[in-house]
Amino acid sequence: MSVARFRTAVSAPRRVVDLPAVRPTVDATIAALRPEDPVHCIRPTALAATARDFVAAFPGDVLYAVKCNPDPAVLRALWDGGVRHFDCASPAEIALVRTMFADAAIHFMHPIKARGAIREAWGRHGVRDFVLDSADELAKILAETGASADLGLIVRLALPKGEAVLDLSGKFGAEAADAVALLRAARPHAARLGIAFHVGSQCLEPLAWRRAMAVARETIQQAGVAIDIVDVGGGFPVAYPGVEIPELGAIVAEIEDGFDRLALPNARLWAEPGRALVASGGSVVVQVQARRGDALYINDGVYGSLADAGTLAFRYPVRCIRPVGNAPSDALRGFSFFGPTCDSADAMRGPFWLPADIAEGDWIEIGQLGAYGACLRTGFNGFDRARIVEVADDAPDGRCFALAA
Ligand SMILES: *Cc1c(COP(=O)(O)O)cnc(C)c1O
Repeated sequence: MSVARFRTAVSAPRRVVDLPAVRPTVDATIAALRPEDPVHCIRPTALAATARDFVAAFPGDVLYAVKCNPDPAVLRALWDGGVRHFDCASPAEIALVRTMFADAAIHFMHPIKARGAIREAWGRHGVRDFVLDSADELAKILAETGASADLGLIVRLALPKGEAVLDLSGKFGAEAADAVALLRAARPHAARLGIAFHVGSQCLEPLAWRRAMAVARETIQQAGVAIDIVDVGGGFPVAYPGVEIPELGAIVAEIEDGFDRLALPNARLWAEPGRALVASGGSVVVQVQARRGDALYINDGVYGSLADAGTLAFRYPVRCIRPVGNAPSDALRGFSFFGPTCDSADAMRGPFWLPADIAEGDWIEIGQLGAYGACLRTGFNGFDRARIVEVADDAPDGRCFALAA
């Protein structure tokens, strides 16, 4: 059995059956492979534990947002941690989840769907819940599903731009007045009628959920129809160096309070976490190809798995891996990174705190990259090759990752 698989954007279902063996540690894997391509490390035990904690903390159904990391090993780990619902946005995601888990509850949560995608989800994969934010999409869903009796229809609300690091307003969502009309129009066709919103990704402010719940409340009251599902979306934040995040409990408290005010005793709560479920369970190991002062030229960058380290200047926890020779220096220094492509925008200013003597040939494990990492790789300039391994060691914490500001 091979040590590592090669990755694809969303695995073709037939490739899913045999996941390779889990390796003991990242360091042993790097020492054995001495990889010159980036290596994505997945920690199934950590992923399952994070999923278990989230499922226990959230008072409703937890839908994993598959786009965040569709790797089969990640999906399997989340399933092992108790996740049974999946927020999918494309036929490829739906086919993958259905192939892996015959009993999964799959929800098609993209507000603009191809007609064929609706038919395939409905007819082949048993998907019954569909999100929409327009009358046109409602008509499309009704036409392509035959307006069947067990249809779940979820109306996505637009929210004003909030304080999330990645704003998701402006593209999807019905404005309040349209949402009122849509809820009324959808009600007669829906076995389950829901209302959904997304506060934006990496949202650091628990009050954002309270404010969103207030918008939902007003909309529901004006619509005057029964509501079965309140879907509070994703956006649950994770810690990156220098970023203080609220406790999940503080966010859940706002959600519960807002839900109580809706006074819908028979409604179910849903959440669609992506980042919060998988960031900590994944990392990428890159190699230093050159050092120029405090800049490191590495073999992955903004066209690979480090997109958010570019324009958004996300900083990730990092540590040096040097299998042979002197142990890395204890003294740390702040470095910036350049990625492998020829685009000068392929730069990550950091700073990333690494041993002062880091040099060409060393490897760096970049943590908190289980979310929006591997799935964002492009083929630009021919640097799309990367490997994936599953490892059994603990997710690195402050002891081996320098979390200094
Ligand atoms: C991306 C997305 C999510 C996941 O968001 P996170 O910020 O990663 O939690 C959930 N729901 C929808 C509709 C999304 O587009």
